[in-house]
Amino acid sequence: MVTIYGAVHLCTAFRAMIMEGDRVIMSVKFKEMLYGGDYNPEQWPREIWQKDMELFNKAGINSATINVFSWAKIQPSEEMYDFSELDDIVDMLTREGKQIVLATSTAALPAWMVKRYPEVARTDYEGRRHKFGQRHNACPNSPVYRHFSRELAARLAERYGSNENVVCWHVNNEYGGECYCENCEKAFRVWLRKKYKTIEALNQAWNLAFWGHTIYDWDEIVLPNALSEGLEGDKTAFAGISIDYMRFNSDSILNNFKAERDAIRQYDKDTPVTTNLMGTFKGLDYFKWAKEMDIVSWDNYPSYDTPWSRTAMSHDLMRGLKDAPFMLMEQTPSQQNWQPYNSLKRPGQMRAQSYQTIAHGADTIQFFQLRRSVGGCEKFHGAVIEHAGSENTRVFREISQLGEELRKAGGTISGSRNKARVGIMFDWDNYWALEYTSGPNKDLMYVDQIFRFYEYFYNKNIAVDMIPVDADLGKYDLVAAPVLYMVKEGVAEALEEYVAAGGTLVTGVMSGIVDQSDNVHLGGYPGPLRKLAGIWAEEIDALAPEQSNEIVFKDGLRGQCNMLCDIIHLEGAKDIAQYGSDFYAGTPAVTENNFGKGCTCYVGTVLSEEALGRVLELMCDRAKITPVIEEETRLEVTKRVTDKEDLYFVINFKDEELPLPKVFGGKKNLLTGSVLTEGEMLKKYDVRIVCCPK
Ligand SMILES: [Zn+2]
Repeated sequence: MVTIYGAVHLCTAFRAMIMEGDRVIMSVKFKEMLYGGDYNPEQWPREIWQKDMELFNKAGINSATINVFSWAKIQPSEEMYDFSELDDIVDMLTREGKQIVLATSTAALPAWMVKRYPEVARTDYEGRRHKFGQRHNACPNSPVYRHFSRELAARLAERYGSNENVVCWHVNNEYGGECYCENCEKAFRVWLRKKYKTIEALNQAWNLAFWGHTIYDWDEIVLPNALSEGLEGDKTAFAGISIDYMRFNSDSILNNFKAERDAIRQYDKDTPVTTNLMGTFKGLDYFKWAKEMDIVSWDNYPSYDTPWSRTAMSHDLMRGLKDAPFMLMEQTPSQQNWQPYNSLKRPGQMRAQSYQTIAHGADTIQFFQLRRSVGGCEKFHGAVIEHAGSENTRVFREISQLGEELRKAGGTISGSRNKARVGIMFDWDNYWALEYTSGPNKDLMYVDQIFRFYEYFYNKNIAVDMIPVDADLGKYDLVAAPVLYMVKEGVAEALEEYVAAGGTLVTGVMSGIVDQSDNVHLGGYPGPLRKLAGIWAEEIDALAPEQSNEIVFKDGLRGQCNMLCDIIHLEGAKDIAQYGSDFYAGTPAVTENNFGKGCTCYVGTVLSEEALGRVLELMCDRAKITPVIEEETRLEVTKRVTDKEDLYFVINFKDEELPLPKVFGGKKNLLTGSVLTEGEMLKKYDVRIVCCPK
């Protein structure tokens, strides 16, 4: 049951304290589902603008994201601001009844600023100070950048914050990147001093006795880049330093976001503030970021060969950041420009992708971009209005159809919630640590390993929440923590409490190895998880791509494994499967251990998809995990729930026609209002939203 307290109602959006059980969540609800995207009229002569409005109305576009890259226009010099053109754009959209997502324009520096204050530009990993150019080019610790970006956000909020059509603030754009300049180096020392208090604690945390790197003064600390601790590839001589740098860099950029957000709040207390994230992007600790955002928004750009399951995982992660519905801030209507092969979306694909996004928790569908630019590197990036300038295009027709559907169905869907009994842990500290570490196998990539587990549940239509390591685990019957390499303070205790109370935990190879500073938990792997798993691992073998091992289940079934093999000793656990070859043939590869009322399964190697499926099936049976619907189907079936009804999103991403599951026969299709027939066939990219009143 969801209860809303003290909601600040505006014409078009509100932020509210929402209670779910005894849990407080801040949430955002828009009056209608936003359907629009990035719009850059400042790049066009005014006679085009009115034509745009006509086309937007035809396509059912009800919102526009503006002012994303206009800094040089609205502040042509240090002393001068000129909002006259932006005033006209805001007035036009307001007259047309469009909801406005207003960006702050601070993601690309104006040329005059770099010329006058070269320190605002970034210094890269190789130590090169950049000149004016590109975007995402500001040093996050530049006082000059901080001053001008905050000032601009404040002026925008003062000018437009009371406009009821402004329904969301969009700070900066796709934050990311690193800076290794002197300002950042000084700020890093301050950040470290706050964290470690004493030089001794720092020396110990980074294990600086190694290679005689002991320091005696804070000023001896340098940033870990190619000129200092950087090794070949993305590796580093001191992962502890590099992980702290990533934390510091994420915090530095987050401080930029907070500075703009707080500047906006001086003049506009209510309108939600967001910035567009990028799924499993490595550079920023999004769980930490989400705490500072009113609503999560993100940009979804799968490649032509990205599995739909992988996109689903990114959506679930973005929903998991606040455990709340999110905004889809950007997707392309058809083509991208920055990938190696920028295929067109096939007919129906954009619609299916949009509904998948909604199914996994989105409350808006927005595009990049509404009109395709004439020049610059994004001129080949798709748009609602293509270079032909016409409504007579396949893309425009598909967008219009979706716009019409969302106008009718959006109200029912918005604000509904996804529920899951399976949680998969995702953690940026682990992401950085696992990929910085030198050895044992260079091919081990964090997101790939998480995805291997996620994919099993996706293929079975089992709902999953992507959760942080400090999540409330009591909500879940099964928690998977693959490659939980870094076990930070309190995490092992929380997992023990969870399993003791009856939970099922699946973890395994490259877990429990280091602490928050990347120093090994001594006494045998998996360190603090050893008691929980009832095993210890003595060595970790690394297999090259052309090598594999075999695993043999208790019933004689065999499977493949590769990449890494823990050599395991049982100390309370029993084995589910053993290695089939090499000098450790016959030793445990997969184990389970009863702990309190629950169980821990330890997967000591990287199993083939089939073998991993077998293990996860056993654990799902044990935890009584069931799919969204009982009937087996190759369709994607996802559920969102409201107080009144269950909404099932049924999408065909396969190359063949598939029948609608029987359970949906006779139910209402929210998209057409018509009654569904048992066994009706769904072609590739067909979608049904099945409405089941409670
Ligand atoms: Zn810097």
